[in-house]
Amino acid sequence: MTRKLGSGKLVIATHNAGKLKEIGKLLDPYGLECVSAGALGLPEPAETGKTFVENALIKARAAAEASGIPALADDSGLSVAALDGRPGVYTADWAERQWFEGEAGRDWFMAMGKVEGMLQSKGFETPRNAWFSCVLALAWPDGDYAVYEGRVDGELTWPPRGTMGFGYDPVFVPNGYDLTFAELEPEQKHAISHRADAFAKLVKDQFAA
Ligand code: IMP
Repeated sequence: MTRKLGSGKLVIATHNAGKLKEIGKLLDPYGLECVSAGALGLPEPAETGKTFVENALIKARAAAEASGIPALADDSGLSVAALDGRPGVYTADWAERQWFEGEAGRDWFMAMGKVEGMLQSKGFETPRNAWFSCVLALAWPDGDYAVYEGRVDGELTWPPRGTMGFGYDPVFVPNGYDLTFAELEPEQKHAISHRADAFAKLVKDQFAA
């Protein structure tokens, strides 16, 4: 059986204000006192893993060890079947402009174009299946840990459509829908997303009666 968090403090191992807010909101009903890695002045570890699980664990373990408090981290990205799962853990890197650093230097249109160019170079008939993954990792200061993997499957479309969401949302049409993630209302996206899937698994395992 997985170790349970119970109530008490939990470090959210992200320096991204948007993620912090989203995760804090999702955990609100469970009586945890969430604090951010940024507020505790914890350093951001390098994401050197080759899988989403490895990267989520690197972040959660670093925060738990440095703070002495259980920590939660996530890692996510887009995988394209015909590209052998790429960009995968390098999803954000594919949007990196060389002459800028951090989120300000990310060019999502360029990244979506790169994926599309690689797909088209494989031929007209190439399957356009893709999926978003989200891994949530919990780590305790004594080294214990738990991981929860979420996924949403769909197809890539071109050109990009829609103005909501972020990242690769404008080219991702989830299975069973005609609209891209960037055309769906945020509530609709959040109900079916990879992040929602991973959170449902965490909540079921950690907090179900
Ligand atoms: P990370 O989890 O912060 O490392 O981010 C990985 C990257 O995956 C993000 O920068 C986004 O580009 C992409 N990504 C993750 N989730 C989504 C999503 O829901 N929509 C669009 N792009 C996403």
